[in-house]
Amino acid sequence: MTEREHLAQACRQLLDRGLVVRTWGNISVRLDEERMLISPSGLPYEALRPQDFVEVRITDGSWSGDRKPSSERNLHAAVYRSRPEVASVVHTHQTFASALAATRIPEFPVDGAARGILGDVVPCAAYAMPTTKALARSVAAVAGATSARAILLANHGAVCVGDGIDDAIAVAEALETFAAEQTAASVDTVGAAPPTTATQPPESTTTTERHTGLTAAAARLAARGILCDSHHLAVRTAGGFITAGDATDKPDGSLPVAELDPFFAELFAQRSDIHAALVSRSPYASLAARRGRPIPPYLDDAAQLVGLRLHVAPPPLRPAIAKHPAVLVPAVGIVSVASSLYELEAVAIVCEKLAVAAAVVDAVRSRARIPWYEALLMRLVYARSYGKLAAEADDE
Ligand SMILES: [Zn+2]
Repeated sequence: MTEREHLAQACRQLLDRGLVVRTWGNISVRLDEERMLISPSGLPYEALRPQDFVEVRITDGSWSGDRKPSSERNLHAAVYRSRPEVASVVHTHQTFASALAATRIPEFPVDGAARGILGDVVPCAAYAMPTTKALARSVAAVAGATSARAILLANHGAVCVGDGIDDAIAVAEALETFAAEQTAASVDTVGAAPPTTATQPPESTTTTERHTGLTAAAARLAARGILCDSHHLAVRTAGGFITAGDATDKPDGSLPVAELDPFFAELFAQRSDIHAALVSRSPYASLAARRGRPIPPYLDDAAQLVGLRLHVAPPPLRPAIAKHPAVLVPAVGIVSVASSLYELEAVAIVCEKLAVAAAVVDAVRSRARIPWYEALLMRLVYARSYGKLAAEADDE
């Protein structure tokens, strides 16, 4: 297997294990002292082919060829320069590691068996905006000063390194398990939530061909613990809406009214711009809804997709849901809406991660925040670039 084939296979592994979503995250392998191969910018992981990976110079981040390399290439290059023994670098926005990173705690000591793969501590690099050279410098400073194999990026995600591609992925998986345990230990009101790396088989269905996109999305969101009931995910139809539950378990066409159907009916009537909606009642979404306080963007991707605040929408729902991609609804959960099922899935995953981060940040009483003007800038850039991309990748 060539390095390119190995990288393509690794991307599918990262996707299958829930460590990366859509185009977020990147992976590279060192070719020699001066060159690395890295995943391209803006291509979804499921579609990556060996020829899509881009050769980049470690010395200065320059590249040649048709494909644009990942926008975090400077971060990867900086890690290789500061750690000559590192052969592969993985950068992810994995849920529990990102939630720990939102606390900006400088380092987490590692105990027990995890020490063998993660080392003695998991340090956290100082905050800088994504894709900037300041972020690359911040990560390289921590990487160069320690022998850490997993480094948290404040309010952003994680960087894991290894002796090879498989080793770096194994570090990322071990980090997620470690971070999920740390989270469960500090947020004892919720108990342990399943880590995102625990993949579950999709529900067996009697789906009609018409709604395969809906049932596939429902299975993916259920595997992440975000969708607790298939009747809590709905898409607009010509005559109203259909839930993933309706699409799978009523082959005879009878549709008894489910608990949230009146809620969805009102939502789709209010928002003519939305195509898909989801109510999450995961343990962390329920905790956030019970607390009933707005959540600031503790993570870069929450700033991008949700904006400057995950607002609380007290009943009646009408005023608050009118302009936001997601809101906390007391006694209901986190409600996400989007113009496509593709975008909805991303919003829901980011909201779940934000709810976990909020629980951990509250538990350790951290005051760390992304500066509001940087959060606003990220929101505007996202709306202009990825928002357009998502609209083009529409589904059902
Ligand atoms: Zn990132």
